[in-house]
Amino acid sequence: MSQPRVVVVGGGVVGTACALAIARRGIGVELREANGALALMASGTNSGILHTGFDSKPGELETALILRAAELRPAVLETLGVPFVRCGAVMAGDGAALAENARANGVEVELGEDGTLVVPGEGITDPVAFTLALGAAAVAHGASIKFGARVDRPVNADIIINAAGLGAAAVARLHGDAAYDIHPRKGEFLVFDVPPPERILLPVPTAVTKGVLVFPTLDGRTVAGPTAVDLDYADWTVRPEARGEILEKAVAMYPALDGAEPAFAYAGLRPTGRRGVNYVVERSVVEPRLIHAAAIRSTGLTASLGIAERVVELAGLADREEAPLLAGAPPKAAGGPWWRRTADRLGLS
Ligand SMILES: Cc1cc2nc3c(=O)[nH]c(=O)nc-3n(C[C@H](O)[C@H](O)[C@H](O)COP(=O)(O)OP(=O)(O)OC[C@H]3O[C@@H](n4cnc5c(N)ncnc54)[C@H](O)[C@@H]3O)c2cc1C
Repeated sequence: MSQPRVVVVGGGVVGTACALAIARRGIGVELREANGALALMASGTNSGILHTGFDSKPGELETALILRAAELRPAVLETLGVPFVRCGAVMAGDGAALAENARANGVEVELGEDGTLVVPGEGITDPVAFTLALGAAAVAHGASIKFGARVDRPVNADIIINAAGLGAAAVARLHGDAAYDIHPRKGEFLVFDVPPPERILLPVPTAVTKGVLVFPTLDGRTVAGPTAVDLDYADWTVRPEARGEILEKAVAMYPALDGAEPAFAYAGLRPTGRRGVNYVVERSVVEPRLIHAAAIRSTGLTASLGIAERVVELAGLADREEAPLLAGAPPKAAGGPWWRRTADRLGLS
C-alpha cells in the first residue's frame, strides 16, 4: 500500500495524538469528531496530571505506554508550547510497597522514614491546550479535522483508528467487532479559590481508582477529586452528595480546604471497559482495517503519545520517516479555564 487513506474516529487526546503521529509520517489522515470542538469529553474533564507511572503495574501495556510517553513528551510539550509544571506529588501513608513498584518501573521516588512517598516527576498541564495543540500540529502536517462528524456507519478507508472514547464500542460494532463494551465511570471534582498546595497530594490508590487527590491548577486554583461512580449512560452532572464525599477525604489531606466553599464543580466520564478490560490498543480480529485505541480509562492524557506510537506500529507505518514537529503556540480554548469548558458547553454551570 503506497499511500493508505486513514480515518481517525474521535477528537480526544488519543485521537489527536494518533492523527499527529500519522500525519508526521507523511500519510493523509482525516479525523472525524462528533462534537463541534476537540477535547470536550474525557480529555477535557480530567485531573490534568501527567503521571510518571510510579504506581502502575509493571509489565502491563498501560504501564509500558505511560513510560514510553514520558520519553516522547518533553520535546512535544516544548515544541508545541503546551504548559506543564513539574510540581511533584506526595503520598502520605505506607509508601514502601509503591516505592518498590516505582523502582520496578524505573521511576524516581523518595521514601521518607515515616513512609511518605515523594514522586518528583509528577506534574500538571492544561489537558485542553494539550489536545488542541496535538490537533493543530496534526493539521500543520496535513491532517484534516471534521467537526459534527459522528461516525454512524462503517468507515470507508484503508485504516480506521477507533479512538472514540465512550463511543468506541459502538464504532467497533459498526465494523462487525463486538469484542468489548465501554461504560462511563464518572469522576466529580470541586474547584476552590484557595491557594493551592505546592505538590499534588495523593491518597494510597486502589485497584479501581487513584482515589481523591488534591492538586493545583496552572491558574492558581485548588481542585479536589475525582470520585468514581460507575454508570450505564452518560450523565455529566455532579451529584449533590459528591461534595461531602470529596471534602471528607480532601480536608484530611489539605486542611486549608476546611470550611471552604467550592467555586465550581465539574464531572468527567472515564471510558471504562466492562469486565476489567483496559487499554484495548490492537488490531481488530474481525476487521483488519480497524485498529482500536479504546478503553483508555484513567491515564490517557499521560500515555497518549505512547498509544499513538503503538497505533502507528499496528498500522504498519512505523518504518516511514517521521517529520520534525512544527513549532507553534497552541491555540487558546475560548471560554475560560479548561476545567469549566465542558460543563459550560453542556449548560451545567
Ligand atoms: C475524572 C477523570 C480524571 C482523569 N485524570 C487523568 C489524569 O490526571 N491524567 C491522565 O493521564 N488521564 C486522566 N484521565 C484519563 C483521560 O482523561 C482519558 O484516558 C483520556 O482523555 C481518553 O481520551 P480519549 O481520546 O480516548 O477519549 P475522549 O477524550 O472521550 O475522546 C473521544 C472522542 O470521540 C468522540 N466520539 C465518540 N463517538 C464518536 C463517533 N461515533 N464519531 C465521531 N466521534 C466520536 C467524542 O465526542 C470524543 O471527543 C482522567 C479521566 C477522567 C474522566
